[in-house]
Amino acid sequence: MQPQTPPQQFDVIVVGSGAGALLAAIRASDEGLTALVVEKTNLVGGTSAISGGGIWIPDNHDMAKAGLRDSIDVAFGYVKRCAKGLASDDRVLAYVETARHMARYLAQIGIPYRCMPHYSDYYPHVEGALPGGRTMDPVDYNAARLGLEGLGLMRPTNPGQLIFGRMQINAFQAKSMLARERKAKWMLMGMMARYFLDYPWRRKTRRDRRLTGGQALVGGLLAALRKRPIALWLEAPLESLVTENGRVTGVVVRKDGQALKVQARRAVILGAGGFERNQQMREQHLPRPTDQAWTATPPGANTGDAIQAGVAVGARTHLMGLTWGVPTMDVPKEEKFRPLFVERSLPGCMVVNARGERFLNESGPYPEFQQAMFANHAQTGGAIPAWIVFDATFRANYPIGPLMPGSAVPDSRLRKSWLGTVYWKGETLQALAAQIGVDADGLQASAARMTEFARTGIDADFGRGGNVFDRYYGDAHCKPNPNLAPIAKGPFYAMKLHPGDIGTKGGLLTDRDARVLDEAGSVIEGLYCVGNNAASVMGPAYPGAGSTLGPAMTFAYRAIAAIQGRPIPLERSDLLARAP
Ligand code: FAD
Repeated sequence: MQPQTPPQQFDVIVVGSGAGALLAAIRASDEGLTALVVEKTNLVGGTSAISGGGIWIPDNHDMAKAGLRDSIDVAFGYVKRCAKGLASDDRVLAYVETARHMARYLAQIGIPYRCMPHYSDYYPHVEGALPGGRTMDPVDYNAARLGLEGLGLMRPTNPGQLIFGRMQINAFQAKSMLARERKAKWMLMGMMARYFLDYPWRRKTRRDRRLTGGQALVGGLLAALRKRPIALWLEAPLESLVTENGRVTGVVVRKDGQALKVQARRAVILGAGGFERNQQMREQHLPRPTDQAWTATPPGANTGDAIQAGVAVGARTHLMGLTWGVPTMDVPKEEKFRPLFVERSLPGCMVVNARGERFLNESGPYPEFQQAMFANHAQTGGAIPAWIVFDATFRANYPIGPLMPGSAVPDSRLRKSWLGTVYWKGETLQALAAQIGVDADGLQASAARMTEFARTGIDADFGRGGNVFDRYYGDAHCKPNPNLAPIAKGPFYAMKLHPGDIGTKGGLLTDRDARVLDEAGSVIEGLYCVGNNAASVMGPAYPGAGSTLGPAMTFAYRAIAAIQGRPIPLERSDLLARAP
């Protein structure tokens, strides 16, 4: 259908409203450009708003305060090794160098971050990894600064990131609670008092005034956006890109039921996420079996529209077979699957296939966890779904998925409908195995072996707890290995795991300034791409927590400089000449 309304013009049109997209629009405005953000859904923020909000920023400004040191050389070497040649070296270097400038800019626009000194990079065995400091967590953000109307525009967070379904919690507090630190109880009481005594705010909304994680990040970005003369159109999906003589000059969006052509004088920046919610694209590109329901991202949002629009104007795609993998679980009545980032690392649980056999290090990085599920399923046909099995001691002490620790919320107070849907329970391992269709002998043998490993402190099969990353989400009270405890005390429990994701990794291939490249490797003039809309700079890896949001915003920052005709030069181009 032909566009119905007269064209409108902006210097920059940004598609999507995740973190990279919003930062691009804000930076464009700060550089004196007019900007329009078009978002497909009726809410701002996409997956970024429901995320942990962590960003992975090498050599960041906060590390020195924690007595930590980093350098561009070391970080570049680390990412380059992780990327395994699947991201160009100059793009990796551009990321590593510019991320810290972007993080300072975030602070300038009102979204300060602090480094997490003890949160290790994900591959401690790879040269250049650090035991902490590169991952940064947003400082809590007061929603009053965004205002109620703004808050109403932002996608609310996941149930998994709320305490008692209401209170937001930051990464430091979550760690303290999981590790059962002595101060955790007082902290929880403080949080409850703060939330419930805040009558003035609670009268207006049930949503917590204190925004943490992705809510702090997107809340801060949205507040910054609303302070600037930036146009924001919700329920305005991109349909296609407009080109003239090979240059992208605008977009067609659907607005109020009409196809509307909008002109971009300088550039279109695609930031419309990956394709994890597009079943057909999943089947075409991702390992099978695959199901869009397994992703932990908002339903109906990221269906790869802007990847397809890019391809339609000649863009090249890259890494399309990869996701940001994580095991996920289905909790009835929740709109999307829950990711299981950390609980699997706590002592007293194990993950098994249908034979009752362990096949991975439960505490390892979550993308490798998901890949191990596919690999084992290919061999045994029984790892999708897999089962996380734990005993009564684990159940009493730790949260997992929607289950709070049994000491706080015993089984008798759990929703009745969850038994047999969210969790399975048996007085013996044999009884549990029969319910979940897992080989009973295999399950008992694996539990006995884990119990022995807990005694020695060494997981002789998969090395669980053998490095600083594994131990971060262990229980320091548990000796000799914070990730290993006996699985011996009934009743026993199981929960079903799927090889889910928090987004796809493949998308349009870009250069170091986020310019989209065509099949021949030439720049498509006027077209930029950030976030999961673009192929990841990390190749197949997840170097540390924050490896998706950090690059999304960093390349947005670089893109605006390039659009202004002042691309950010590489400071250490000498590193590119060095041998791998
Ligand atoms: P999104 O944030 O999903 O934004 C894309 C937007 O584009 C959406 O709003 C969508 O509606 C819109 N859109 C789609 N199609 C169109 C269209 N045709 N027209 C207009 N708009 C369109 N990553 C980290 O780095 N650190 C973390 O701490 C972290 N924690 C996470 C925790 C959870 C629970 C989850 C689920 C993910 C987490 N991630 C984290 C991953 C991270 O959130 C995503 O990788 C990231 O948000 C992707 O950003 P994006 O801008 O590409 O996409």
